[in-house]
Amino acid sequence: MDVGMTIGGRVTRGAATLPVENPAWAKEFARAPAASAQDVDRAVDAAVAAFPGWSALSFAERAQLLRDCRTLLHRHVDELARLLTLEQGKPLADARGEATLAADWFGHTAALALPSEDLVNEPGALVSMEHVPYGAVAAVAPSNFPLILAVTKVAPALLAGNTVVLKPSEVTPLASLRMTELLGEVLPAGVCNSLCGGPATGAALTEHPEIGLVSFTGSVPAGRAIARSAADNFKRVVLELGGNDACLVLPGADVTAIAPRIFAAAMVNNGQFCAAIKRIYVPAPDADQLTSALADLAAAARLGDGLLTGTEYGPLVSRAQLDRATALVAEARAAGARVFPGSRTPDLPGHFLTPTVVTGLPRGTRLEAEEQFAPVLPVFAYDTVEEAVSRANGTEFGLGGSVWGDEEHAVSVATGLDCGTVWINTHGALRAEAPFGGYRSSGMGTEYGYWGLLEYARIKVRNIARP
Ligand code: NAD
Repeated sequence: MDVGMTIGGRVTRGAATLPVENPAWAKEFARAPAASAQDVDRAVDAAVAAFPGWSALSFAERAQLLRDCRTLLHRHVDELARLLTLEQGKPLADARGEATLAADWFGHTAALALPSEDLVNEPGALVSMEHVPYGAVAAVAPSNFPLILAVTKVAPALLAGNTVVLKPSEVTPLASLRMTELLGEVLPAGVCNSLCGGPATGAALTEHPEIGLVSFTGSVPAGRAIARSAADNFKRVVLELGGNDACLVLPGADVTAIAPRIFAAAMVNNGQFCAAIKRIYVPAPDADQLTSALADLAAAARLGDGLLTGTEYGPLVSRAQLDRATALVAEARAAGARVFPGSRTPDLPGHFLTPTVVTGLPRGTRLEAEEQFAPVLPVFAYDTVEEAVSRANGTEFGLGGSVWGDEEHAVSVATGLDCGTVWINTHGALRAEAPFGGYRSSGMGTEYGYWGLLEYARIKVRNIARP
């Protein structure tokens, strides 16, 4: 495994390395380059130097280069997917899906437009506006969907005319570093650079004075640190942070029929998905039936090494993530909850946690208030819909939420959910055409589609007097 950081069009190995673990085996399987402070400066310098040339290309020329990126990455889906499974743990089929989506996202993005507009066109004046890039953008990505969540930043940033320095998570750097190496076959030197390292490298990059905009996806504490440091010079930030999405089942819903879809939406990527279902609110008379249907699904889950055929769920991405989730379940048990562990974990030393359903929790436990980011699903029985809406809104998060049942009733209840996306009879379905972003601690700004592209451009007004 020999991947490097891409800086100014050259692949560099770095002076030091850091370990990359295969989470299914809890064992180091590769080493990644560790960026030094000088590497951070060199990467930002390279992005700054490439900016005039890249931004001078026409929008159509940049869009064509993004389409070329798409074609190139499609040829490398298998290679990227294998790296993803090895470092992240997800089943190979899911990793292929993510690598394919990452390639396609360059194409989706290339189809967007940022036209300039005439705002006033009258005898005395012509006032128009155009969208201009920020310069060098820092893109900092998390460990759950390393490739696609890097590309949803890199592609629109580039299309709008910015250059980029990407820093993937130190837990899952390899597929993203390799992708950036590949993009160097299509993009001019310095247009898309990459760095590898942990929070200190992320902080050095995002605090760099030559960075014009920071696009970050990750945890709330890291997002808060970035927002604080950006305030010093009013650096623009887009923050996609944690979620604690509620799924609200209405009275009259067929809980047995919807249980498999709710289970799937909670266990996506082993629960390591910002917009996974993280809490269920169900009418008290239906709670036992739904819990038992979910517990049956958990019991049938097939866990294993993501490289093996038949594996439905891999390990959690890290020991820290497993320890946190295990502690949440232990706390719930101690608080009197009933815990339904799913199928057996495989006989592997990795960070496996079986899908687990928890019910009978008292109010105010951490499993209700905090994001578990793991396959642990709490089910809360409610007496009135108003109470369920209030509890759904009662955390610091506001990413997404869903309502299940009669469509008309569900739409009206969903208006009361205080979050960026509401789903009706589905959950977590994200689309390239639809903007996505969170309220409150779930972040600020928007990603995806035209509205996501807008984040990477400033408005410039031209006002011509015609006396
Ligand atoms: P994390 O915050 O630990 O790390 C994310 C990235 O931030 C990594 O690259 C890390 O090195 C870097 N980082 C950490 N501290 C930093 C700092 N002070 N300055 C700059 N960079 C820093 O998150 P994670 O564990 O990789 O991902 C899980 C979190 O991400 C969850 O909370 C999840 O909900 C969230 N997430 C949100 C979305 C969304 O779109 N809203 C999508 C995916 C994941």
